[in-house]
Formats: sequence, C-alpha cells, structure tokens
Amino acid sequence: MKNYQEINAPLRTIMTPGPVEVDPRVLRVMSTPILGQFDPAFTKIMNETMDMLRGVFQTENQWAFPIDGTSRSGIESLLSSVIEPGDKVLIPIFGRFGHLLTEIAERNRAEIHTIECEWGRVFNQDEIIEAVKRVKPKVLAVVHGETSTGCMQPLDQVGPACRELDVLCIVDAVATIGGTPVKVDEWQLDAVIGGTQKCLSVPSGMSPITYNERIEKVLNSRKKVERGIATAEDNLESGPTIQSNYFDLSQLQDYWGPRRLNHHTEATSMLYALREGVRIVLEEGLETRFDRHKKHEKALMSGIKAMGLELFNDFEWKLPMVACVKIPEGIDGDSVRNMLLEQFGIEIASSFGPLHGKIWRIGTMGYSCRKENVLFVLSALEAVLIRHGVKLNHAEGLQAALDEYESVK
Ligand SMILES: *Cc1c(COP(=O)(O)O)cnc(C)c1O
Repeated sequence: MKNYQEINAPLRTIMTPGPVEVDPRVLRVMSTPILGQFDPAFTKIMNETMDMLRGVFQTENQWAFPIDGTSRSGIESLLSSVIEPGDKVLIPIFGRFGHLLTEIAERNRAEIHTIECEWGRVFNQDEIIEAVKRVKPKVLAVVHGETSTGCMQPLDQVGPACRELDVLCIVDAVATIGGTPVKVDEWQLDAVIGGTQKCLSVPSGMSPITYNERIEKVLNSRKKVERGIATAEDNLESGPTIQSNYFDLSQLQDYWGPRRLNHHTEATSMLYALREGVRIVLEEGLETRFDRHKKHEKALMSGIKAMGLELFNDFEWKLPMVACVKIPEGIDGDSVRNMLLEQFGIEIASSFGPLHGKIWRIGTMGYSCRKENVLFVLSALEAVLIRHGVKLNHAEGLQAALDEYESVK
C-alpha cells in the first residue's frame, strides 16, 4: 500500500469570506481530551457555551446553542422544524444565499414567495414590509450579510414589522455574527443563524442558532419525543411531524435543555472550539471587535481604490467584512488568484452565478482581519496584477492603507 504522509498543511494567509484563519487558542483547545456527552464536566461546557452565545447574539432568549454541521445545518434545522407543508414562506433574494434559503424552504414543501433585486443591491426595508403585508406568510426568511455580493440588508425595521403582523422572521446571519452588530432582541428577530468559519474564526462544522418563544411555540406544537427514549410524560399517540430527525429542534432543545434527553452525540472537539471562539469574541468585546472589522475594511478599501482598482460594492449597504473588487477588463481572474496562492500563499475568493469571473472577493473576517494581512494582500495583489500587465498607480495602494492606519491611532 502507498505510504501516506502525515498532513503538513502549508501556512496560508486566508482572505476569503470563509473559512478564515483560526486563532491558535481555538486550535489548541481542539486537542483537549474527549469527554462523554453526559459527563458533568461536559454538560457544564454545553451550558457555558449557550450562555456565551446569548452574549454574542445580544439576546435574552433561553435557546441559543449550536447545530452540528456547517452553517446551512443551522438554516436547515430552523426551516425544517418551523415550516409545515403548504406554509407560506416569503424570501427576499439579493444573492446566492437567498436562493439557498429558497431551496431549503422548497424541500420542506413550503408555498414559496420571493422578491428579487439585482445582485449588488439590497431592498429598501419598506419593499420587504410591503411584500410581507401582501403575501401574509407564516415565515419571512432573509439573509443579513450576502457574502456572494458583499451587501448587507438592514433589518431593524423589518423585524418589528414582522412582529406586528405576526410573521416569524428568520435571519441568516452566518457571515455577520461576530463581525458587525446583529441585534437579535432589539431588531425583534425571531430566529437567527450564525456561522463559525466566518467572523467567529472557528473551523467549519457547527452553526450557532438562537430563537425565541414564538418559534418555540411552533416547535412544541409539532413535538414528538423519540419512542426509544420517551418517558410517561411524553405524548406518543402519532408519529413525528417534523420530517428530519437530525434537525428536529423540538428534540434538540430537550437535549440542550434541563431534560438532557439523548439525541445525537454532541461534536465534542467542535464544541470546545466554539466555546473558545466565543470566549475570545466576548473577551475582545463586541463593540471593539466590530470597530476592528471597520478599521481594516477602511484600510483595505482605501488601498484598493488608490491602486487604481474599482470596488463593486462601494455602497452604504456594503458588507463590512467583504470587499468585492472588479476584475480589470481582459484579465483572467482565476490566473491572478492562482498566482497569489502559489507565490504568496494568499487565498482570495471568486464569486458565483452572474458575478463569476467579474469580481474577486477579499474577506476581512475574525482572526484573518489583521493589519499585517491587509498590507500583505495589497502588496501581493499589486505585484501579481503588474505581472498580468495591469497598469496600476505604482505603490499607491500600500501608502493609502498606511495613511489610513496612521490616521486612527
Ligand atoms: C457561508 C454562508 C452560508 C453557508 O455556510 P456553509 O457553512 O457552507 O453551510 C450561508 N449563508 C451565508 C450568508 C454564508 O455567507
């Protein structure tokens, strides 16, 4: 048999919209020994993680815990637990991840209603509220930070309007949690899904979610405890109505809650990682962390513009942690990305659908969002573009970024 070597991953500078670099503290904690899932030492870790997640989500909700799986597992758990076949679901689409919400809602046999706007724009909140009034859905499912287009949809008025109209507002904040304010309680969002591999800077493989008692009421109305573990207090008359067992939030909350009813085996090492990741976020402080993301965003944008490149998302609705750079006319975007990786060990991203081949996406998320990374990506991008024959304002990009850093002490 072939002799396979131990993994020896090259050191990269990851400037994509996820997965991003992970704080060494998180990597360290992942090598902590395994604990049994009902060991009090482990359930304490579960409870502490829930408590810290409430802080990150800025909520008083009882329920805030991770779903095991990548970020879409959080989306899928909420949509499949809340949507019953034939329920009306309204989805405003302004990029790839709006389509993902639509697909997941479709698979749960919802009656889908969508409104769409051009990629690169977001909706005026009134447009969404108007659509909610017209469609009268059970659920509004909407993306907060659209990483595919680098745009951020304001939701501070959408949430309260949904509350007033008795519509459940479910938000994909996978890209924004831990990088820019996501005010779950203040914006009256009923359920919010976060991601680990973006601004929380934890490896991909978990999705922290939170939801309030309006969602819990729906879950309880559909609740069925697994027959093999149910006790006398559980109603077993008919089978479960939530299609998915893995994503059944009514069962998952009995696992995370005081009953501790067995469901899946919690992903031990990932939970260690998430706990350390959110501990770092709260230690830094939410406001400080949001300001840090803004500071490096500003330096990166100044550098890109001073170099003579154009931004696709230079709008007031720009997603602070993703800069979308227009690929200059006649340049092969993938060839530039390959050279960045091969010569500098830097990774930036392309985009999807209508924007494929038109923009590069440079992320400044979480632990990757640091001064040395921003300066490195600017200098490398300049060198690689010159190699590709692009005429640039020589060395101006770095100077502009340095000016930006020097102006904010
Ligand atoms: C990254 C991302 C997702 C999907 O995350 P996976 O971890 O790949 O499942 C969903 N929504 C948004 C807005 C994202 O940026």
